Amino acid sequence: MKNYEMICDNLQVTKDGILCFAGQRTDILAKQYGTPLYLMDEDRIRRCCRIYSTAMKQTFGDKGRTLYASKAACFKRMYSIMQEEDIFIDVVSCGEIHTAVRAGYKMQNAYFHSNNKTDDDIRFALQNKVGHFVVDNEEELTAIDRIAKEVSAKPKILLRITPGIDTHTYEAIATGQVDSKFGSALETGQAEHITALALSLSHISLCGFHCHIGSQLFDSNVFFRAADCMLRFIADIRDRYGYVAEQLDLGGGYGVRYTNEDPAIDLADNIRQVGQVIHRLTKELSLPMPMILLEPGRSLVADAGLTLYTVGTVKRIPGYKNYVSVDGGMTDNPRFALYRAVHTFVAANRMNEECNMTADVVGRCCESGDILGQKVSLPETVCRGDLIAGLTTGAYTYSMASNYNRIPRPAVVMLSGGQTYVAVRRESLDDLIRLDE
Ligand SMILES: *Cc1c(COP(=O)(O)O)cnc(C)c1O
Repeated sequence: MKNYEMICDNLQVTKDGILCFAGQRTDILAKQYGTPLYLMDEDRIRRCCRIYSTAMKQTFGDKGRTLYASKAACFKRMYSIMQEEDIFIDVVSCGEIHTAVRAGYKMQNAYFHSNNKTDDDIRFALQNKVGHFVVDNEEELTAIDRIAKEVSAKPKILLRITPGIDTHTYEAIATGQVDSKFGSALETGQAEHITALALSLSHISLCGFHCHIGSQLFDSNVFFRAADCMLRFIADIRDRYGYVAEQLDLGGGYGVRYTNEDPAIDLADNIRQVGQVIHRLTKELSLPMPMILLEPGRSLVADAGLTLYTVGTVKRIPGYKNYVSVDGGMTDNPRFALYRAVHTFVAANRMNEECNMTADVVGRCCESGDILGQKVSLPETVCRGDLIAGLTTGAYTYSMASNYNRIPRPAVVMLSGGQTYVAVRRESLDDLIRLDE
């Protein structure tokens, strides 16, 4: 078995060396839809949703809920899939709210995050009947209270607490440490202070607490510690203020396999173990079981995604290095440029050939930093017209895509049960100038 086959079970190779994704030949898909192209395995997304919702139900009964952190991959079809799978959603902007509303998503099941909601954002969310606000800081809390009063609303809120947990993930995606830009810190007393403030305001309804400690996490201890910190905080608040939280949202962050070195996580088992910690602690602290929420993004959609590119220039600099340039790049996947994130790249039409060349897979943008992958192993026969596939690209790629160099964003094609359909059309050149006066 080769490395790429072990990353996710929706990858196979035909006898003639063509990579298949969700049972379909990538060479045919590339021909039919063009490249660069995002492919999403809908059946895989649904399977991931069910792993979470089944485990949450088994562990917490009616008190367990899964939210999809929709920033991972946001377009209308994703919201309708989440609605069909009975998964709640996180939204972080008016744009995500609008997309969900237009997809017909039931907004009472949406939680509005972000560390800096503007007054307009708050009004828009109230107008659209977003179910909960997850409030980052005191300034935001008072703004929500003030605007809710103006429009005679009383939104439900959770407070985002920073539990002070260092997750040893990359700095750019760590969020749980005291000096994070997100949330109100336990250690500094700001968490208690914002809780007291929330309890004193009359146009909001405090429902509980939230934390999100980081992303691409493989160590379940981190979740145990987060649950421990948060439940002790909840008990402390009960003792001092007589307020008992009804909801505890432990955030997202479970890791996925970008390379063969990343371990596979048994999500169901992890959730059960976190559940045991929570059951034991609630008993110890004499707390009623709160509603427990998890809000995965990446682990619901990352390995349901694959990006297809066509090779252009192959440049060999003797004694130095090789470059394989593709027809996409940081515009469709800025993850390497942004945080040196590693993906696996394969020559999708030469899967049976030996990988005897090392090359950087680079994009077409006018930036030296426009790199998709460094030191990628590929067959030395790779040439113009070949197909390169980026694996595990379902999360934080399309949603982070840009039009830098006026490059149109690729289409998102969904694969389901042997069928395909376009979920997001490829941008046209005219789309690129539609806002230009
Ligand atoms: C990004 C984010 C998530 C999802 O993180 P993943 O690593 O994709 O699971 C969940 N909650 C919050 C608040 C986030 O910012």
